Amino acid sequence: MAPLAVNRLGPRWSPGDPPIPIAILGSTGSIGTQTFDVVSRLPERFRIVALTGGSNCALLIQQAHLARPELVVCGTTDLKSDDLPAGTRLLYGDEGLIEAATLPEVAIVVTATSGHAAIIPTARAIEAGKTIALANKETIVCAGELIMPLAERHGVAIRPVDSEHSAIWQALGTADHGDLERLILTASGGPFRTMPAGEMACVSADQALAHPTWAMGGKITIDSASLMNKGLEVIEAHWLFDMPFDRIDVVVHPESVIHSLVEFRDGSQIAQLGLPDMRLPIQYALTWPNHVATPCRRLSLAEVGALHFETPDYKRFPSLSLCYEAGRAGGPYPAVLSAADEVAVAAFIEGRIAFTQIPAVLSETLDRYDGPRTLDFDGLAEIDATAHRIATAIVSEWSASG
Ligand code: NAD
Ligand code: MG
Repeated sequence: MAPLAVNRLGPRWSPGDPPIPIAILGSTGSIGTQTFDVVSRLPERFRIVALTGGSNCALLIQQAHLARPELVVCGTTDLKSDDLPAGTRLLYGDEGLIEAATLPEVAIVVTATSGHAAIIPTARAIEAGKTIALANKETIVCAGELIMPLAERHGVAIRPVDSEHSAIWQALGTADHGDLERLILTASGGPFRTMPAGEMACVSADQALAHPTWAMGGKITIDSASLMNKGLEVIEAHWLFDMPFDRIDVVVHPESVIHSLVEFRDGSQIAQLGLPDMRLPIQYALTWPNHVATPCRRLSLAEVGALHFETPDYKRFPSLSLCYEAGRAGGPYPAVLSAADEVAVAAFIEGRIAFTQIPAVLSETLDRYDGPRTLDFDGLAEIDATAHRIATAIVSEWSASG
């Protein structure tokens, strides 16, 4: 069989080619299960070689029996070899994630884990020449300064899965990057878009978890309600598209139909539209440059009727400004912000702090941060641990006095 055609954007499948071998990191999560669905519908194009999950062993076992991968990696030792199909290897923990991301036959690694777990495996995958379908935001937010030059050095493609970045990638098409003037990220505005500032201190985790347009994992849903998610996406866009922060804008667009836009030097703006369904950007990251048929519901602009836009309210949603600040500061600060947010969101879900205290924890953690000032892969764990320690202390102080 003919070898896969590989160029700067990674493997590209043509009829008659063997299926592209892929690894899914975080296959049991929101993005992971949707990736599994997308890939399962396209067996002639893709073959799952490795699956990894955290603690949902039952789902991981079910996926393993359907896909019969070479390797399964589990976050807990509750899963046993006997649970897996004959011939599937089982590994645990971080070492296993690295093994899954670097298996010789894997061509595309989908990074769909939450948190920091995927950062080092992604770096190793890049060093091994794998194309990255990047869903995990933390990888690029915390370590974009390291990941992008590494990908450049190894001639490796990073294909965005996040819907806004996929939209920008698609809208850019074959245009000259030098003609690009601005990136405009759209934000749904979340469930508290129109809520008066005075009421936001009293919102519950259940209210914050009820996203108006997207169905996602828990952490990212709370981040969407605070606009932190959009701020993280601004940092993500800065690294993925090499764009200065003052040329990345956010516009609130409650219908979530326009997924983001690019503006060129001549003032022309190009957008990508569709109903909100993550299977579309996931699939495009895998099937690039082809737009392959999906069972997803189609957008009818006439049915939607009207699209609305507004400027974000930076006063009610200060996390957005904090992301610009940390992004501009660079070095360890985006990672500090990301770690503080993990602590603050968990504390909010546990009822220890109010929703409006989330940005306050972020700001205070940035102020008190006394860890490493420069960023390298070896120092990431220390930056993360320091920021977690500081943010946890802040939450304890505030919940004791509150
Ligand atoms: P999720 O919580 O639903 O799933 C996370 C997955 O990672 C699960 O399979 C979990 O078992 C696994 N995991 C977590 N920690 C792990 C560890 N230490 N070791 C091994 N596996 C581990 O999260 P999600 O919503 O799918 O989001 C995943 C990533 O994609 C996040 O970085 C998020 O910001 C990004 N993202 C998500 C969406 C979305 O629609 N859900 C959209 C854009 C970007
Ligand atoms: Mg997004």
